[in-house]
Amino acid sequence: MNALISVSDKTGILEFAQALHPLGVRLISTGGTARLLADAGLPVTEVAELTGFPEMLDGRVKTLHPKVHGGLLARRDLPEHMAALAAHGIETIDLLVVNLYPFEATVARPDCTLADAIENIDIGGPAMVRSAAKNWRDVAVLTDASQYPRVLEELKAGGIRLATRFELAVAAFNRISNYDAAISDYLSSIEFDEAAEVPRRHEFPGQSNGRFVKLQDLRYGENPHQSAAFYRDLHPAPGSLVTARQLQGKELSYNNIADADAAWECVKSFGTTANAPAACVIVKHANPCGVAVGVDALDAYRKAFQTDPTSAFGGIIAFNRPVDAAAAQAVSQQFVEVLMAPAYSPEALEVFKAKANVRVLEIPLDGIDPAGATPWARGLNAHDVKRVGSGLLIQSADNHELQRSDLKVVTRRVPTEQELDDLLFAWKVAKFVKSNAIVFCKGGMTMGVGAGQMSRLDSARIASIKAQAAGLSLQGTAVASDAFFPFRDGLDVVVDAGASCIIQPGGSIRDAEVIAAADERGVAMVFTGVRHFRH
Ligand code: 5GP
Repeated sequence: MNALISVSDKTGILEFAQALHPLGVRLISTGGTARLLADAGLPVTEVAELTGFPEMLDGRVKTLHPKVHGGLLARRDLPEHMAALAAHGIETIDLLVVNLYPFEATVARPDCTLADAIENIDIGGPAMVRSAAKNWRDVAVLTDASQYPRVLEELKAGGIRLATRFELAVAAFNRISNYDAAISDYLSSIEFDEAAEVPRRHEFPGQSNGRFVKLQDLRYGENPHQSAAFYRDLHPAPGSLVTARQLQGKELSYNNIADADAAWECVKSFGTTANAPAACVIVKHANPCGVAVGVDALDAYRKAFQTDPTSAFGGIIAFNRPVDAAAAQAVSQQFVEVLMAPAYSPEALEVFKAKANVRVLEIPLDGIDPAGATPWARGLNAHDVKRVGSGLLIQSADNHELQRSDLKVVTRRVPTEQELDDLLFAWKVAKFVKSNAIVFCKGGMTMGVGAGQMSRLDSARIASIKAQAAGLSLQGTAVASDAFFPFRDGLDVVVDAGASCIIQPGGSIRDAEVIAAADERGVAMVFTGVRHFRH
């Protein structure tokens, strides 16, 4: 029986070879490995001796030879294959032990150059592993030291079992697949620059070649009978939820993460720089139930909480500003599932220590470039993905940002500056509310949120019922509707509730009827030309 051993990581290889030798296994090996075995007194045949060809080109060509690949690939059950081997003086190789050049470890070094990486791309190793794994019925292929003991045991017991060979072949192809993925990922992260000696590793533009890294297994999915795990993009956008550091609290659940994402994306839309207004978003079941901007985190939180104190119970709360002791004190008065902010003062963290269950996440925002050319640089997701049956829907993410200059006033009454501010605020929130979305706002806070209804009228009614329940008056509020009003009735409901101005996409065949209704009721209305369905 012939064994070819060619390993970069020499861990455990000497002991393994020493155990193979007395079983009558002939050892064939490449340069470095052969030296190690020979130095320990084992009889070794160098591959160069087997092939009649020297190892050449700095080791780039060692085992790429028909004497090696013929010996690995020949089917022992086919007389023609065996005859071909005999005709060319090729012996079978029955056991292959290979681990590859350490590509992953090399590129993980901060000083790794492109040239270092390239030299560490193993060519002959994977070729042999593939040959052996393809011919798994006749050849056992070992690609990891952890496999040595079991193979030895079976050899001693009379031979390596067929099931074991198959398992080894599967493990081999898994290894090759991961190895090639590491090479592909590394090279994809390089921005080649002829002028620079060492190419810069560029900031990946948010695509990850569809590759994800598992962050954690989750206890269960949306429901306890569903299993789940949390993955991140290979190159996550700066300031995104997956870059969060959990400072305290219970393990995040699937629903926590989904809700946290909605809260975090919404709060970031109010600005991520130090001069942005302080904003607070409270989310329940994926919908904002309170959103506000204020002079500081405390002020924003107080206003956001007022919108719907009942729903805020057990909510997910996000701030775009560091949380100080005052905000922490206020937040800790309520039951919180998850809290997110770019930073916390030490005093704020002290406050939460008394509430050990609260999951406190710190998500730095300073890597975000608000003027960045790509959504990735601006800290945003480039794509949305949804599974449908056995298929997949992919779209570019809804990253549209409305500018004041995009607004078209369609009514006789023009909104006041204050109304315009509230309209734009309401529009920002509506984007994060499940359709059909109706959002009443005033003075930089939500006054009533109607979410997820099959009829826009019902969303409007629910928003005003909720405002009433919270003791808020909707008189003089600004209303945002995520999509156009198909009839005047939706407009009548919000104006009856107290709205004085409306923001909506426009574009209905009955726009004229809806505009006439707004004029008749004396409210101001602006069209955005963009809608924000969110399903
Ligand atoms: P050694 O330390 O024995 O000289 O080299 C072992 C390493 O060489 C293993 O990682 C093996 O995968 C790799 N190797 C074996 N044959 C070839 C080949 O023909 N070309 C290249 N580039 N690497 C090879």
